Amino acid sequence: MPNFANNTDRTSWLYVDKNSDFPIQNIPFGVFLTRDDIITIGTRIGDTAIDLGALHQLGYFDNIPLTEDIFLQDTLNDFIADGRQTWRAVRNRIADIFDVNNDTLKNNPAHKETVLFRLDEIEMQLPVHIGDYTDFYASKEHATNVGTMFRGAENALMPNWLHLPVGYHGRSSTIIPSGIAVHRPQGQTLPNGVENPVFGPSKLVDFELEMAFITTNANDIGEPIPIEEAESYIFGLVLFNDWSARDIQKWEYVPLGPFLSKNFASSISPWIVTLDALEPFRTAGPEQSPQPLPYLKFSGNKSFDIKLEAAIQPKNAKETVVTRSNFKYLYWNMAQQLAHHSINGCKINAGDMMGSGTISGPDPSSFGSMLELSWRGENPVLLNNNESRKFIEDYDTVIMRGYCENQDTRIGFGEVRSQLLPVFESQKKR
Ligand code: MN
Repeated sequence: MPNFANNTDRTSWLYVDKNSDFPIQNIPFGVFLTRDDIITIGTRIGDTAIDLGALHQLGYFDNIPLTEDIFLQDTLNDFIADGRQTWRAVRNRIADIFDVNNDTLKNNPAHKETVLFRLDEIEMQLPVHIGDYTDFYASKEHATNVGTMFRGAENALMPNWLHLPVGYHGRSSTIIPSGIAVHRPQGQTLPNGVENPVFGPSKLVDFELEMAFITTNANDIGEPIPIEEAESYIFGLVLFNDWSARDIQKWEYVPLGPFLSKNFASSISPWIVTLDALEPFRTAGPEQSPQPLPYLKFSGNKSFDIKLEAAIQPKNAKETVVTRSNFKYLYWNMAQQLAHHSINGCKINAGDMMGSGTISGPDPSSFGSMLELSWRGENPVLLNNNESRKFIEDYDTVIMRGYCENQDTRIGFGEVRSQLLPVFESQKKR
């Protein structure tokens, strides 16, 4: 099915600011609570949220094979499971309904009253029930930086790193939407020069600037996903802040990888931007040397040019952008990640989420974590209000943004924003 929704000549009868992340060419998917406390699946054009459940009930999706309640759900899982043809048909229809030359909904005030919401009338929810969550470690610059700090420049990259996309299975229960505050975790650490571990609040809470992709049902158990098919099982992407406690991580990560240092919270942006909408922003990735094994070899451009930034906003102060990176810096692309993930027969389901790993670029101003930006705390990062940060402090808000832009259009993700709170009160008293 052709992808009419990406037509850059199209404009909408809904107002869209020229710097908006959400022109009519984007048409992301999310889940929100309406002013009447009804949960629904929706999309967004400019600063208008659109209730797809209501649009469907009013007959605007006639002739697209959809179940009656497909959008009247509190997650996108069933819609995602319907597959690429359905996502495309629905995006194309939404583009048509809101096209400046289509008067049907535009001239129906009663329908508009039911379907359209201002952003301050809705509350965004977690868009997917995430079954399984995997986090990769796909940025060579990030892996090199962390390896250099932990093991020295000589042993920065482990011997496997250039041959396979390293990853670990994370925990989906603590993936939360933008706007939900995160408590500083407590745990075991081994401070420098001390023989026995101590227990207490993490002193080194960090962000990780990542993106994550969400899959549809892709294979049966035992059946690998061929690399050239892998992208057809990717529904879309979100911004992903993989909160990390570096001191807990350093003590616990040997030999099985991160555990409690990572699973206290990971925050995602609420609108899933489809891979279809990102199509115009394909680009070449970094050159891969040595050549990957045949099952990881791919043709064409499988990286995407998505500009990323992270900012820190202290309480009662303005934010400071502390890093600017790009999704295209990732050494291992999403198709390689999915092909590798399933090469042993691991089953990939609708609603699974795969994090990219911290996305650091070649330049120190593009590093994707405070661990790297402050080089383990040796070079504090100066903020606009003359404070400085080695890591994240209580009541700081971390904001991540991402967008693609060419001469025709801008497709963005909005933001993921979350505040770090002190250790949870009832824990403190123990
Ligand atoms: Mn991570």
